[in-house]
Amino acid sequence: KKRGVNELRQLFLDYFETKGHLKMKSFSLVPHNDKSLLLINSGMAPLKPYFTGQEIPPSKRVATCQKCIRTGDIENVGKTARHGTFFEMLGNFSFGDYFKKESLEWTWEFLTEVVGLDADRLYPSVYLEDDEAWEIWNKDIGIAPERIFRFGKEDNFWEHGAGPCGPCSEVYYDRGEKFGCGKEDCTVGCDCDRYMEIWNNVFTQFNNDGNNNYTELEQKNIDTGMGLERLACVVQEVDSMFDVDTIKALREAVCQLAKKEYGVDDDTDVSIRVVTDHIRSVSFMISDGIMPSNEGRGYVLRRLLRRACRHGRLLGIEGEFLVGLARDVIDGSKDGYPELDEKREFIFKVVAKEEEQFNKTIDKGLVILSEMEKQMEERKEKILSGEDAFRLYDTYGFPIDLTIEILEEKNLGVDEAGFKVAMEKQKELARGSWKTTNYMGADATVYEEIDPAVTSEFVGYDHEEFESKI
Ligand code: ATP
Ligand code: MG
Ligand code: MG
Ligand code: MG
Repeated sequence: KKRGVNELRQLFLDYFETKGHLKMKSFSLVPHNDKSLLLINSGMAPLKPYFTGQEIPPSKRVATCQKCIRTGDIENVGKTARHGTFFEMLGNFSFGDYFKKESLEWTWEFLTEVVGLDADRLYPSVYLEDDEAWEIWNKDIGIAPERIFRFGKEDNFWEHGAGPCGPCSEVYYDRGEKFGCGKEDCTVGCDCDRYMEIWNNVFTQFNNDGNNNYTELEQKNIDTGMGLERLACVVQEVDSMFDVDTIKALREAVCQLAKKEYGVDDDTDVSIRVVTDHIRSVSFMISDGIMPSNEGRGYVLRRLLRRACRHGRLLGIEGEFLVGLARDVIDGSKDGYPELDEKREFIFKVVAKEEEQFNKTIDKGLVILSEMEKQMEERKEKILSGEDAFRLYDTYGFPIDLTIEILEEKNLGVDEAGFKVAMEKQKELARGSWKTTNYMGADATVYEEIDPAVTSEFVGYDHEEFESKI
């Protein structure tokens, strides 16, 4: 009964195939012709042209398992049971074909009959005003009224500026009291890990003209998304997504490197999970051709890779270790994602080079930072000045988020506004030449030795775009 991640993925795609869906393979993490998005963050994102009618879909019914990156969740990673920066999203989609009734009935059938989850632990939610969805759950599927939750716009209405939008309906799984926050009002929708959101059904039925005037769309769509790791987590009845079969193997490799036992110390566990998560993101991003750089996606990659290094150090891992873990990611996921295997050597080279460079940087930077800390102590200051933070960043290649993190651990802060001012000043001065200098401790041109084609593809995103997205 305890199915593995790979089996669940297949089960989902096969089930929707029997419902007339075309199985499509995951799209790249790099959005195609979509400037509004830095990285693919949902199953729906690469299918946007089909939803808007810009392009004709190969089938009106499609099912995918899409690799996703959500850097917005980075602060949660390692701390909650359910967030990764990388995860796989299962989804069934209707482009002007079936609508709410079919989709919700299939959601229910898949979870309770195909996968065999206990119906008594499942709770649907609907948008406050969506009586139609409520009725389907209650009358057609037979869920008791008190088990159906009605939530407001922030949770159950999917909207992104102007354009297609609509209410959504989610399914939560009650994992039991031991995962709860213990608060008296803890129930479905609580932010803790007891009631885990597993599946979201979005009904794009309206068009927002940009001024919150809604009109019914002619073509009504279905866009659903279910985290594969979360599904596996509840199916396998394990503590978190880091305990499902495939990810657990990777997590154990991290423990072995660190010579640490999992589940003994909270901070240690967070670092173990961060490394486990980030190396997945890093390996998949590189397999899709993203290269470390100081801008856009390349910067996201760099930040994740460096954060993994840093947490590796916190765990006491000595020397370079990420290539070995990347190998484990590839071997664990290559069946579903053959691009990992095809790019194997390339991934190793990029990871090795970036890690080596970062280690040099960090050794130098740590010395400087501890000198700065001493001076702060002497002056009885709690906040590192923007100039000092910028000096670390600019001269020693020390990323600002790392400075913040290190100081935070000691209850110290950074003048981030001052840092930004200093950065702007520098940008003015260096305009035109900074891309080729040894900026942030890494010269992008080093990667041209590995594969010139790849580097040249990834110039031109500006920092502003990135900052507004992370
Ligand atoms: P949460 O409220 O738990 O952060 P969400 O509402 O942001 O999730 P959706 O945008 O509705 O998530 O995405 C659809 C599904 O994708 C979720 O129901 C969940 O199963 C999965 N998912 C979303 N974010 C993550 C993540 N960071 N890691 C793993 N799975 C995720
Ligand atoms: Mg979220
Ligand atoms: Mg949610
Ligand atoms: Mg959701």
